[in-house]
Amino acid sequence: MSTIEYRLPQKRALVTPLPGPKSAALTARRRAAVAAGVGSSVPVYAADADGGVIVDVDGNSLIDMGSGIAVTNVGASDPKVAAAVAEQAGRFTHTCFMVTPYESYIQVAEELAVLTPGDHEKRTVLFNSGAEAVENAIKVARLATGRDAVVAFDHAYHGRTNLTMALTAKSMPYKTNFGPFAPEIYRMPMSYPFRDQPGLTGQQAARRAITQIEKQIGAESLAAIIIEPIQGEGGFIVPAEGFLPTLVEWARENGVVFIADEVQSGFARTGDWFASDAEGIVPDIVTMAKGIAGGMPLSAITGRADLLDKVHPGGLGGTYGGNPVACAAALAAIEAMRENDLPARARHIGEVATTRLRALADEVPAIGEVRGRGAMLAVEFVKPGTDEPDAAVTKDIAARALEQGVILLTCGTYGNVIRLLPPLVIGDELLDDALTVIEGAIRAAV
Ligand SMILES: *Cc1c(COP(=O)(O)O)cnc(C)c1O
Repeated sequence: MSTIEYRLPQKRALVTPLPGPKSAALTARRRAAVAAGVGSSVPVYAADADGGVIVDVDGNSLIDMGSGIAVTNVGASDPKVAAAVAEQAGRFTHTCFMVTPYESYIQVAEELAVLTPGDHEKRTVLFNSGAEAVENAIKVARLATGRDAVVAFDHAYHGRTNLTMALTAKSMPYKTNFGPFAPEIYRMPMSYPFRDQPGLTGQQAARRAITQIEKQIGAESLAAIIIEPIQGEGGFIVPAEGFLPTLVEWARENGVVFIADEVQSGFARTGDWFASDAEGIVPDIVTMAKGIAGGMPLSAITGRADLLDKVHPGGLGGTYGGNPVACAAALAAIEAMRENDLPARARHIGEVATTRLRALADEVPAIGEVRGRGAMLAVEFVKPGTDEPDAAVTKDIAARALEQGVILLTCGTYGNVIRLLPPLVIGDELLDDALTVIEGAIRAAV
């Protein structure tokens, strides 16, 4: 691995209580200008960010254990990404690929054909957000199969647009009072080893879902199965081994398009380029966003050429989709991931963090489970001696970590999971410091 050079000191350093006075003033201004429906996990405003730190407007240096929700895998100001953005913005910021196309869009598509699972013939379309990629994957699947129904799973998160709200499982805050929702979405039981009956194998969990699909929908009406290979917002749920391959096999036998939503789990995060790689599954379509472009808004669907090429010219696109500045950023980010071998880096982060968290779990009965893969890690909290979710203690842990200068995100259907998603370029010392703070916050809160 090449050594990563940082622009900002990689240190946790607090110079004010959090939030500091400048952040507090911005919160007051924000209330008068920004809609209340937009939340922020942390009431601290960013001024600068690099490697594993975010420096706030008051000069506090915080450790970033969220990466802006798994986006800044290469860091928030990778020099290659920054230079590529500046260079492209100096030439042209936009022409619209549907009007006057440009090479970088094609280059991104070529890269994604290489990086995504499977060596079959592939095609790619670029968009702006994860939700938009998911919407378009479903559009392609419906057109290609001539079928309507779509299967999503318990605990799924696929976005906030109308179709993706329908696919998303959790009502509050994502769906409540935002309906009516898109029709022909069917929800199936997920494999959730911590909460499934003990001993249920991945194959059995998949069969449970398949039986329901066959009874409630019928394969001949089903266009697509969409699933996050490791669920994100739903609680970093890693399905039991065999669950995904069994679903893929059934989908293939029945002409159902298997869509892996890798928006959160993709781009080196789990220690592979994609979470699908761990069990060697080859999805028909992969949706990507978050980590793809070093923080610039870009998303993609890459899938079987015979499926994607079925869509009539003009059927897919969007004004900004595959914006040239975002494409330049993606090419630079992919290069940075390769050069710094960030999949290996993610595996290393996973080993360091799980070793420490598992040791802590042995002592702390409120820890129900430590799980995840690579640098997509979670700790699920329960009332000691039960499997009853404890959201209050989880919230308290995140608040205590923040007080000490560590940005820590929560997630989960029951709000009882802390998730660790550091930038993959975080240094070992900073990671150790963050873990020490998190351990202290857990011990203090439970
Ligand atoms: C974040 C996320 C989305 C939605 O992406 P946006 O860019 O916020 O629209 C979709 N699927 C998964 C798995 C995600 O984590």
